[in-house]
Amino acid sequence: MMIAHVGSEVRVFIRSRPTANFAQELIQYLPDGQTVSVHQRKDSRKGVVNNQLSSWSFRLDGVLHDVSQEEVYGRVGRGVVLGALEGYNGTVMCFGQTGAGKTYTMTGATESYKQRGIIPRALQEVFHEVEQRLDHTFSVHLSFLEIYNETLVDLLASVRGCPRVGPGGMVVVEEAGGGVSVRGLSLHPVHSEEEALNLLFEGEMHRIIGAHALNKNSSRSHCILTVHIESRSRTLSDAKYVTSKLNLVDLAGSERLGKTGSEGQVLKEAMYINKSLLFLEQAILALADRRRDHVPFRQTKLTHALKDSLGGNCNTVLVANIYGEASQIEETLSTLRFASRMKCVQMAPAVNEHTDPVLQVRKLEKEIQLLKQELCIHNTLIVSIRQIQEVFAQFKQAMQQQEQKVKAQLCQNYTLVEKAQSTAASTAAKSRGSQGTVGMVEGHGFGVGVAAPSERHIRPLSPGRTKSIKTKELASQGRKEAVEGRSPGPGKPVESVNPVQRDREGREHDPQSQEPQGPQEPLRPDSPPPKAEAFEDFKAERGSEINRILKENKLVLLERRARLRELTEGVNTAKREIDSTSTALRQWRDKRQSQGQFVSAEGVPVLDEAELSLVLRLRELKTQYRQQYEELCGTKAEVSYCQHLVDQCRTRLLTEFESWYNESFLLPEEVQAMLRSGAPIRPGLVPVYKALALEEDEQEHFERLRYELLADSPSAISFYNAQNRTVQRRNYSKAMSQAPVQKTTPRGSGRTKLPAILSVI
Ligand code: ADP
Ligand code: MG
Repeated sequence: MMIAHVGSEVRVFIRSRPTANFAQELIQYLPDGQTVSVHQRKDSRKGVVNNQLSSWSFRLDGVLHDVSQEEVYGRVGRGVVLGALEGYNGTVMCFGQTGAGKTYTMTGATESYKQRGIIPRALQEVFHEVEQRLDHTFSVHLSFLEIYNETLVDLLASVRGCPRVGPGGMVVVEEAGGGVSVRGLSLHPVHSEEEALNLLFEGEMHRIIGAHALNKNSSRSHCILTVHIESRSRTLSDAKYVTSKLNLVDLAGSERLGKTGSEGQVLKEAMYINKSLLFLEQAILALADRRRDHVPFRQTKLTHALKDSLGGNCNTVLVANIYGEASQIEETLSTLRFASRMKCVQMAPAVNEHTDPVLQVRKLEKEIQLLKQELCIHNTLIVSIRQIQEVFAQFKQAMQQQEQKVKAQLCQNYTLVEKAQSTAASTAAKSRGSQGTVGMVEGHGFGVGVAAPSERHIRPLSPGRTKSIKTKELASQGRKEAVEGRSPGPGKPVESVNPVQRDREGREHDPQSQEPQGPQEPLRPDSPPPKAEAFEDFKAERGSEINRILKENKLVLLERRARLRELTEGVNTAKREIDSTSTALRQWRDKRQSQGQFVSAEGVPVLDEAELSLVLRLRELKTQYRQQYEELCGTKAEVSYCQHLVDQCRTRLLTEFESWYNESFLLPEEVQAMLRSGAPIRPGLVPVYKALALEEDEQEHFERLRYELLADSPSAISFYNAQNRTVQRRNYSKAMSQAPVQKTTPRGSGRTKLPAILSVI
C-alpha cells in the first residue's frame, strides 16, 4: 500500500567540474542560481553562417558551481535520504559526459573524507537517523548492481557469505504492486555506517573500468547502489510496516561516439551506453507524458531496473554534470537539454506501507482472545441477570402462594359477614315492600354452617368458658379414650375421629363435657374451631347481651306481625260484609221500586224497617273497615321498623363475633397480647385481622399502614385490597348500628301502645 502525497516535478541540478579553462563567454550562470545560458558558435564546417552565435537558456532547480561536496549532499541528497527513512522510494542519479564529475559527485574521492560524495554521506545519514529514531526499528540492506553492455553484474557477489547466482544469471523481475527487483542480486544486511562503507568500497573495486582518453577512471557502465530500508514502529505494536529503496545511480558517460575516438571494444561499449541513455531518456519522457499509458522501461536493463525509481511514486533527483570547457560545449548542451527534459517528469511520492501477515495473524488472534474474554464477561453478566430474574420469579411465586393462602383464609372468614349482610339487605328490602310478612322466618338464616337448632339447645354454655378450652379438653379426652379403648360414641370407630369431630360428637354423647369448668385463660388450639360452633359460644358468652336484644326485638316483630295478620283478616272480613250488605240493600230497593214508592202521611218517601236495618249495618261496617284499615297501615310500618332493628342487631352480632373469632383464634399470640394490653400495633404485623377490631380513630394509622405496605412491595396491593374490604364492611356495620331509633309509631295511629323496642347501641 502506498500513501500518495502532493505531486511535484523531478528535481534537477547542474554541477560543473572545476576547470582552469572554463568557457566564460559560452556558459553563464545567472544570479538566480538556477539558470544557465549557453552560447554556441555555429559550426563553420557545416557551412551555414560563420561565427554566428546561438543561445540557449536552461532553468533548473539549482546550479552547483564551485560548491563543496557537503553542500551538494545537503541540496541534492539529504531530502531523498530522509524520505527513504520515512518509506518513500528515492533516486539520486548523476548524468553527463565522461569526466564531468559523476563519480566524484556520487562517490567522491575515496581517499578524502572531506571530498566524499553523496553515497557515503547518505549511508552516514541513514545510520545516524536509525540511531536517532528510537521509536522505530530499522533493517538496512545494501545491493550494488552494475549494468555493463546490457549485462547485470553484482558488484558485491564476492563478499563472503553471499549466495551464488543461479544458472539463469540475474534478471530484472517485476513484483506485484508495481515494484521491480533483480533476481540473483545479493542483498547485504548492514548495521552501521562502517559496514555499509565497506560494501561500497568493495563494490567500487569491482567496477569495470575502461581506459578512456578523457578520464582514465571513468566508468563505462551504469552503477546502482541501493539501500533497502524497512522500518517498524516500536510504540504501535502494529502489523504494518514501511519499506523503501534508495537508489544512488552513477550513470555511464553520455558522450557522443565520434568525440572520443573510440574503436573496437570501446566503441561497442559506447554504443550500448548511448542506447541505454537514449532509452532512459525515452522512458523518462514517457513518464512525463501523462497521456501515454505505456512506458518503455523494459527496453534496456537500466530502465527496467530503475522502473520503480524514476518518477512515479518516487523522489527523484538528477544531477547533470557538465565539463565547462569550450571544447565540450556540445556535450554540455546535450546534457543540459536532457536535464531540462527530465525536469518535466512528474512525481507523486508515496509511502510503501505493508502488512505483515504473521503479525497480522498474531494481532487478530490477540483481538479474538480479547473479544472472547469480553464475550465471557457479557455471558457472565447475562447469567447473573438471568439468575436475578429467576430469583425474582421464585420470590413472586412464593408471594403469590402466600397471598392465595391469606385470601383463602380471609374468604373463609368473611363468607359469614358477606352472607349475613346480603341477608340483612334483602330482608330490609322486603320489609320496605307492602308484603311485610313475606320472607321473615326464624332469624337464623346466616348462611353459614350453623348447627341445627335442635343441636344447639342441648349445649348451653356457661359464661367465661371458651370454646377453645373445650375443644382442647375434648380432643385430649378423645385421645385418652382411644388409648383406653373406650368408644367415644355408639358405632363410631375411634381411629376415624379427629379432635374437632370428637369435640362435636363428644358434646352430643358426653354430657360430662358440658359441665362448667370454671374460669380459665383461653388456650389456643392448633387449628381454629368451626365457626358455627364458635358462633353459638359467642352468643352465649360475650355476645349474650346483643343476642338478648336481638331476641327481644324478634319477639316484638313477631307480635307486630301477628297483629298485622289479625288486622288484615278483620279488614278483609269487613270488606266482604260491606259487599254483601250492599248487595242485599240493592236487591231490596229494586224489589220495592217495582211495587211503588212508600211515602208517609205528609207525602215524604220513607224507608221500611228492613231497608233501614240494612243501611245502618252498612254504615257500621264501613266505619269498622276504615278503622281497621288505618290500624293495618300503622302496623305495617311498625313491622317494617321492627324488621330493620332486628337486621341491625343481627349485623352487629355477626360483626362482633367476627372480631372476637379473629382475635381469639386467628391472630398471632403476641398480637392478641398487644390488643389486650392496648399497645400500638407495629405496622405490617397483622394489618388485616386488626382491622376488624379497629376503632374509628385508628383509621388514620390504618391508612398509613396501607401506604407503607404498598411502598414495601407491589404485591401488597392484593393484601391491602382484602384489608380495605374488611374496613368497609366494618364501617357499614357500624353505620347500621348507629342509626337513630324512633319509638313512635309512624302514621300516628298511636292507639296501640307498642312494647318497648330496644336499641342495640
Ligand atoms: P566521471 O565519473 O563523470 O567520468 P569523475 O567523477 O571520474 O568523472 O571525474 C573526473 C575527475 O575530475 C576526477 O579526477 C575527479 O576528481 C575530478 N573532479 C570531478 N568533479 C570535481 C569537482 N567538482 N571537484 C574536484 N574535482 C572534481
Ligand atoms: Mg565515473
